[in-house]
Order: sequence, then structure tokens, then C-alpha cells
Amino acid sequence: MSASMQEVAPRRRASALDIAVVGGGMVGAAAALALARAGFSAALLEARAPTAWSMGDEVDLRVVGLAPSSLALLDDLGIWTSIREARVGPYARMLVWDAESGAAIDFDAASDGHDLLGYIVENNLVQWMLWQALEAAGVRRLCPAEVKDFEAREDRIQLELANGETLAAGLLVAADGATSPLRQLAGIATRGRDYAQRAVVAHVRTERPHENTAWQRFLPSGPLALLPLADGRSSIVWSLPEAEAQRVLALADQDFMNELGVASDFRLGRIVAVTRRAAFPLKLQLAERYQAERFVLLGDAAHAVHPLAGQGVNLGLRDVVELRDTLLAARHAGRDIGAAHVLRRYARRRRSADTLDALGFDALARIYAWQSAPLVAARGLGVRLLDRLAPLKRRIAEHAAGL
Ligand SMILES: Cc1cc2nc3c(=O)[nH]c(=O)nc-3n(C[C@H](O)[C@H](O)[C@H](O)COP(=O)(O)OP(=O)(O)OC[C@H]3O[C@@H](n4cnc5c(N)ncnc54)[C@H](O)[C@@H]3O)c2cc1C
Repeated sequence: MSASMQEVAPRRRASALDIAVVGGGMVGAAAALALARAGFSAALLEARAPTAWSMGDEVDLRVVGLAPSSLALLDDLGIWTSIREARVGPYARMLVWDAESGAAIDFDAASDGHDLLGYIVENNLVQWMLWQALEAAGVRRLCPAEVKDFEAREDRIQLELANGETLAAGLLVAADGATSPLRQLAGIATRGRDYAQRAVVAHVRTERPHENTAWQRFLPSGPLALLPLADGRSSIVWSLPEAEAQRVLALADQDFMNELGVASDFRLGRIVAVTRRAAFPLKLQLAERYQAERFVLLGDAAHAVHPLAGQGVNLGLRDVVELRDTLLAARHAGRDIGAAHVLRRYARRRRSADTLDALGFDALARIYAWQSAPLVAARGLGVRLLDRLAPLKRRIAEHAAGL
């Protein structure tokens, strides 16, 4: 169902807003809400109305693992309790193992004195709750709305929408996803690499329970994750080379389940039921800069990463926190929130943090792609060693949690 009651016609004349956020996915919607809650006048512009979430609906095929830093933001925004009470898959353990060497790393929340590592949550549920909260917070949502062009002036940035309307704001925040038309309009280049892989996603029922554990097996063809859902099923993220992904997408259900069972090493027994499948292209993409005149990038518009670490949206939500805090500090100091020196603090901090993480995930993808016997043996040795080094393992878990 399309959320037509959410749609608000763009205003005819340019008006003075503090911030215009473009892109109402999880990151853009969280940014608009966080900035509005911090007292800025904000509008959210989105090309496509989000799909309404309802308990009776089938679980969205797209899910994310939300880390504690993301839960803290959603809690701060007043929507985490509603999300948790709706439908989430808590996980207390993450077991990552190497198909070639057999070496495994076991991250267990209890061993670090925590109850959980995070939650598997439907993208659509998070986005829908954010949109509901935006409405309650009185944030102007322009949907459907597309930005055709923009121009920075001395005291504002002027947006031209596809329908000919205009809008003015002190700052333009682009959260319009990995293909980010706004990033291109701002002339910001990206670097990275195409993994020539697709992540095949589906929900499966397995013979054995998932034990509230996120399972991930690294195969020479790419990682396979089985993530625990609230209803006892697991959500799979199966990264495969393009042609292989196309092949498994086209398999009959029973053949797909058989191949998936083998790929998962029957860790949860046989696969006994599967939903429809979808696939997403994988790439590493980092914006050369996060800032232009009265303009910042955040979320996938700034950084797209391999899903093997389950961190894409968690990084985006950390961008949101940094941007909100940066703009709040500027306002308290009586500064213009769109000034270059203000935006530089956000851009510098987040770009270096995101780059470090993105390159770390990329290094993992490369290391797990090694196939020659000595390199596989070295990888196995390193993984076994790491699994025994409790303090280092704790540091890695804390970093993933965003602590
Ligand atoms: C298979 C897979 C598994 C993943 N698993 C995880 C995980 O476990 N944990 C995790 O943290 N991350 C995960 N990710 C990454 C995560 O899904 C993304 O990082 C996240 O969805 C990005 O959100 P976003 O809001 O930045 O961008 P998007 O969700 O792409 O939203 C962009 C929005 O902008 C709108 N838009 C685009 N252009 C315009 C325009 N011109 N005008 C107006 N609106 C526009 C779009 O309609 C869209 O709504 C995974 C990704 C994949 C592919």
C-alpha cells in the first residue's frame, strides 16, 4: 500500500528552512527527524512514498542488523520501543567460519557481559516508523518530490524541483542512496570497486532453530549469512559472482533449498521452506568528499560497503548523529549551520571513520577470497589466533557496536 496520505504538495514559493533533507530511506528519514528534534526547521523530500508496514504483512525481504549505536539513536528519536514491540530478531551470538580452513570466530554477547549483539529488523519497518514519527513531529514531507538542480548562494541554497517548484534552505543534506543524483549534481566523484557480485536474499525455514545467532560462512564464492528473524526463520544474504547469482535465482525452490543447504554446511540442518528471492549488486563506493557549498552527503550517498559486516546503515546512522551534534554546536556558538568551516568538522570526522571501516570490510572480502593453500592456511591460523585473543575480539565487537 502506498502511503498517499503522507504526500504533501511542494510549496509554490521559495521559503526559508534551516535544512532540506533529500532521500527518505532509513538514513535520510532519521536525519530529518533528529534535526527536527534538535530544533531545526527541516523538510524531507522523497521521490517514492514508503510502503506502509503492518504486522499482518509478510516479512520484508530486506533486513538489516542494527548495532547498539543505531538502537541508541532510534531510542533517542522515540521509536525504538515501537519497532522492538512490532517484529525484530534479537541475536546474542555471531559465528563466522571459513569453509576452506574450518577456522571460526565466535562473538558471544554473554562473554562480554551483554545480553545481545543487536537486532535483525526489516528495512521497511524502520523507515515506516520514522515516517510516522516525522508526521507527529510536524516535519514537512514533500513526496513525491525530486530535486532537479540546486544552487548555493551566500546565505542559502536554492533547490529546483522536477515539477518546477523551488525551495530554499540553509543547508542541503543528500541522503539519496548509492546512486545519489545530488552527489553527481554537486560534482563529487567516488572511488571504490565493483565486487562483480550480487547478494541473493530470501527468508528460509530451517530444520533446526537459529538459536538467536547470526551465522556467516565464508565460501570461495563469497559469504553466506543466515540472520535470525522473529518468527524462527532466517534471512539469508548469499553473496555470489554475478552469473552464479543469476543461476541460483532461476532455480526451482527445491533445488535452491538443496544448494543453500550445502552452502550453509547444513549448520541449521536442511532448508525446508523458502520465500521469493531478490538480488542486489555489491560495490565499494566512497565519495571523494562529503561536503560542498551548503551541502553534505550522508548514508549510502556517501559510502556503500560490502554487506559482509552488516554495517551499511549503522554507518549511515552514525553520520546522522555526527551531523546533528555538529549543527547543534554551531547553533549554540551562533554560527551559520551551512558555513564551510562548520560542515568541515562533520565531513572530516565521518569520512575518515567511514573510510576506515569500508576499507576494513574490503580487506576482509579480499582475505576470504584467497584460495591458494598456503594463504588459506595462514588465514586459518590468523582466525584461530584471533578467536583466542579475548581483548582484541572484544575491541572488534565494541567497534562493530559503535561504542
Ligand atoms: C543485501 C544487503 C544486506 C544488507 N545488510 C545490512 C545489515 O545487516 N546492516 C546494515 O547496517 N546495513 C546493511 N545493508 C546496507 C543498508 O541496506 C544500506 O546501507 C541502507 O539501506 C542505506 O540507506 P540510505 O537511507 O542511505 O539509502 P537508501 O535506502 O538507498 O535511500 C535513498 C532514498 O532516496 C530516495 N531518492 C533517490 N534519489 C532521489 C531524488 N533525486 N529525490 C528524492 N529522493 C530520492 C530513494 O527513493 C530512497 O528512498 C545491506 C545492504 C544489502 C544490499
